Amino acid sequence: MIDTAYENPYLLMTPGPLSTTEGVRKAMMRDWCTWDDDYKEITQAIRSRLIQLGECTPDHYTAVLLQGSGTYVVESVLTTVLDDDSKLLVLENGAYGRRMSTIAKTARIPFDIHSFGETNPVDPKVVAARLDADPSITHVAFVHCETTTGMVNPLEEVVRVIKQRERSVIVDTMSSFGGMPISIEALQIDFLISSANKCLQGVPGFGFVIANTNALAQCEGRARSHSLDLFDQWKVMEEHGGKWRFTSPTHVVHAFHQALMELETEGGIPARAARYAENQARLVDGMRTAGFHALLPKAQQSPVITSFLYPSADFSFAAFYESLKNQGYVIYPGKLTEQMTFRIGTIGDIHPGDIDQFVRVVSRLHRFHR
Ligand SMILES: *Cc1c(COP(=O)(O)O)cnc(C)c1O
Repeated sequence: MIDTAYENPYLLMTPGPLSTTEGVRKAMMRDWCTWDDDYKEITQAIRSRLIQLGECTPDHYTAVLLQGSGTYVVESVLTTVLDDDSKLLVLENGAYGRRMSTIAKTARIPFDIHSFGETNPVDPKVVAARLDADPSITHVAFVHCETTTGMVNPLEEVVRVIKQRERSVIVDTMSSFGGMPISIEALQIDFLISSANKCLQGVPGFGFVIANTNALAQCEGRARSHSLDLFDQWKVMEEHGGKWRFTSPTHVVHAFHQALMELETEGGIPARAARYAENQARLVDGMRTAGFHALLPKAQQSPVITSFLYPSADFSFAAFYESLKNQGYVIYPGKLTEQMTFRIGTIGDIHPGDIDQFVRVVSRLHRFHR
């Protein structure tokens, strides 16, 4: 029996932080020491498990954990990997792609942007043409699942055209890794970025990079920031058996270790991906019946988060949000610049039965509002 004081007041239907299991939350109820072998072994176990989850072999790939939210890890990769002789091409179709450009600009990394607009997927043919036209581009960065809209970009096709042209690939799979299978090694992705509090169902506090070991090994001395030096972070973890360079989020690391064990019990990424896909399909169907239409066509929707258009010009998101929160569900505002939307996440400890219940509540509320 858990103390009711720790029960969740609502289900988080957001893209992270998200609803976690009781097991994950319980792993944080102790104060753990750092530096000793027990703790370092947990870090090492997490690192090797991440490599397996990315379908990589430890001969060619390595995992590095880094304190902070997901953006810190994106910044760490961009500012450690690119030197002044490199040039980055950022493929944008939403706020998270845009954030990579902002990071590059702030760090004075030479870069170009190719924008596809917020409701179009990244087009591999356009990427190929852009790379053929500009041989000075050395690295390409893009977002797999653009959480701004819920758009899933064609990862395999985009990576393929970049690797065929012998450029390095940096991909932000923050909101998709763990919820969709990704064959990092088969695709030859150089740097893949994600975080603890999304599809792997941990809590916020650190993110990670799964990197081609040779590519990372070439980055010594390039970092433009000391605390975000990914090479240094990796060296210390590698050479000291799982030691973090600076104070690590110990509670969060234990919770993540538990979350990875629970992923295994669930049946690994294939089983989790199937549950999320089922959640999302039921959500879109149920919402349509309730009078809400998805922004994107089905083929572009990720299983992670879905954008819905406001049903009418006088729709009050604030009132809708409050009513749903009172009924035990927290949803997400929109982030689009051109269309009025809100978003609903289908990841975390949320199951198809929860979605069915949620859409019944939405149906009742929406009838009432009209
Ligand atoms: C969540 C997310 C991030 C990181 O956001 P933080 O607020 O820094 O954790 C980056 N990219 C994508 C696509 C995301 O969904």
